[in-house]
Amino acid sequence: MNSGLQLSLKSLGNVGYKRAEAFAKINILTIEDLLNYFPTRYLDRTNLLSAMKVIEYVRNGYEGEVTIIGKVIDNELIKYARKPVFKVSMTDGDSLFECVWFQGLKFFKDRFRTGESYAVSAKPRLTKYGHLQFVHPDFDKLGKDETTEFKNTGRIIPFYRMPKELKANKLGDIGLRNIIYEAVEKFCDEIAEPFPESLLIKNKLPLYREAVRNIHIPEDQERLKKAIERIKYNELFFFECLVALRRNKVKVRTRGIKFEIFPAPVKKLIDNLGFSLTEAQLRVLSEIKKDMISPEPMNRLLQGDVGSGKTVVALLAMMIAVTNGYQAAIMAPTEILAHQHYLNFEKLLKGSGIKCVLVTGGMKAAGRRKALKEIVEGDAGIIIGTHAIFEEAVNYKKVGLVVIDEQHRFGVLQRMRIIEKGNSPDVLVMTATPIPRSLSMTYFGDLDLSVIDELPPGRKTIKTILRGEARLPAIYKFIIDKTTEGNQAYVVYPLVEESEVLELKAALEQYEFLKETYFKDIRVGLLHGRMHWQEKEEEMLKFARGEYDVLVSTTVIEVGIDVPSANIMVINDAYRFGLSQLHQLRGRVGRGGKQGYCVLIGKDENVARMGHMNFNFEYLSAAQIEKFKAAIRLNAMVKYSSGFDLSEIDLKLRGPGQIFGTQQSGMPELKYADLSEDGPLLIKAKEDAFAVIESDPRFELPENSGIRAVLVKDYADNLRYSEIG
Ligand code: ADP
Ligand code: MG
Repeated sequence: MNSGLQLSLKSLGNVGYKRAEAFAKINILTIEDLLNYFPTRYLDRTNLLSAMKVIEYVRNGYEGEVTIIGKVIDNELIKYARKPVFKVSMTDGDSLFECVWFQGLKFFKDRFRTGESYAVSAKPRLTKYGHLQFVHPDFDKLGKDETTEFKNTGRIIPFYRMPKELKANKLGDIGLRNIIYEAVEKFCDEIAEPFPESLLIKNKLPLYREAVRNIHIPEDQERLKKAIERIKYNELFFFECLVALRRNKVKVRTRGIKFEIFPAPVKKLIDNLGFSLTEAQLRVLSEIKKDMISPEPMNRLLQGDVGSGKTVVALLAMMIAVTNGYQAAIMAPTEILAHQHYLNFEKLLKGSGIKCVLVTGGMKAAGRRKALKEIVEGDAGIIIGTHAIFEEAVNYKKVGLVVIDEQHRFGVLQRMRIIEKGNSPDVLVMTATPIPRSLSMTYFGDLDLSVIDELPPGRKTIKTILRGEARLPAIYKFIIDKTTEGNQAYVVYPLVEESEVLELKAALEQYEFLKETYFKDIRVGLLHGRMHWQEKEEEMLKFARGEYDVLVSTTVIEVGIDVPSANIMVINDAYRFGLSQLHQLRGRVGRGGKQGYCVLIGKDENVARMGHMNFNFEYLSAAQIEKFKAAIRLNAMVKYSSGFDLSEIDLKLRGPGQIFGTQQSGMPELKYADLSEDGPLLIKAKEDAFAVIESDPRFELPENSGIRAVLVKDYADNLRYSEIG
């Protein structure tokens, strides 16, 4: 290894014993660790402008963004055209300018105290009084020393995260910059280059050591941009190497089943459906067929928005497995959903001679024994259940296809276990949780992707509205009016503080209250998580048969449930839900031909229109950020009906790590690349990584030795399911 990079921090002039200890607390032990401590943002002082200059620019028709530094002289909440506005007056020493906010006032009004200095960036405009004004600018608060030190130095200044461990050591922004500066100057050139030259030339990327240098000490914007690109590409490349290695192991090293397609039973099943398949369903079905007739094991992700009709496609695939003398299993996330699949399949498979068996965790001993016997002896063609179907006790005679329904969190490791348990069955993972393409490429990159991007004909867009709690009486009246015309409504209450007991209490209380007051003349049912699944099922069936007008429910109806006649969904405390949950809930209505409605109930501050996302979250408290994000989610629901649009927003709000437990994925967390922005770079990195591994799966060529070295050194934990692990 490069000796200099492995030296302790104490080899730097500005780091003594105490400081080295402080750095050690945040896991920075060596020079290399320090060089990998990257800035989180930059302030470009290379073209700082005075307010005077900016005014001149604007008068000449300039329309771009500018950055300008100033000191706060006043801030006030004023009214403009009867709307509240937060206005900050600032000076750059010579001239005045102002920043204004029309939205999110509460969040800003405690910032921008008199005397504080900020760098603000935005498109400038002139007010009708000729004042220079910035509307909702980006801003960076500047430390006392920074305002003077860096003024007009003409550099791009890096900002590093300043953890409390370093602050406790009296290290400020400037001190930290100096330490890192020294490390870069002395040791950066020792950083090894992992990539063959051809890869760098192809992608026009700088050497790794050049990138690291420019990340810390940017020479200019252009080089900084390239440096950031290189660092992100690096990360994505190695990430995709792991994906490719894993995929290789499944595809190349494992022999799967070569099914035959018998057209007659498939056609008969399709005829039985009572509707014709959409183009998208047919396309996906043929993709699945192609996988099934090939000797490589199928490893496919089927993505389709709620209600797009994934279940029938899965059933057709299962049919193919069964007509080949194999068993097919489908795992649903809840018992009630498993039972719904069971009833549905029984109906559709009538007369086919295929036997369906249900296995759930809560089933009685005798029934379970019978089911297990039918599975092991092979009488059961199709096995339906919850995760119980993969317990030790369940032995299959000959399982050929495993379908995993609505389980995007069902990670790679679990999938691997299923493959290892059976005789390498084909695997189909289905999800309605919309996943942006960039995400599915990373987290499901070892799966082939099929998408049902079309809803069955006749579905109308669900009308979604956002209302404050004060409007509930009017909404109840709307429900009563609608239900007397033969419509049906869900009224949902959220999980309160992660506690089932509290959740239950809230729903129960509301149920009693509504039954005695607003809804005393209509029929109301109740569904909650503490009920046995058969009780839940009974309530659901009553609702489906039209014996209830309204179903008061906790979130148990969230996934999969299909009651086509229900068309109104009221979601209380909607700000507590995540976007994909809200989308799932909304997907429960509007399945029949009727117009669907979704009413989101928020607190008044959530209802305020704060649709755009260009806020600098850094200066807000955690609670403020939460409220703010909730408002963005609710407004996004009103604006978008497609799960894919919503998923992009979700990704920006939460980041990939939260959407997919990274632990379960067995993949490293991405530190630098941002999947909501770096899609094109990801695609390049993926193609390159896959190409390298295709031609040299064990990195035996000399030009790939650098790649191998990094994988073994930095990604050892993630190599478990690969050949070089
Ligand atoms: P999801 O993709 O959310 O699992 P489902 O498979 O539950 O969706 O299908 C939703 C509803 O649409 C079901 O009632 C199903 O019978 C119906 N359906 C599926 N495909 C079609 C189609 N091609 N035409 C009409 N209705 C369909
Ligand atoms: Mg489904």
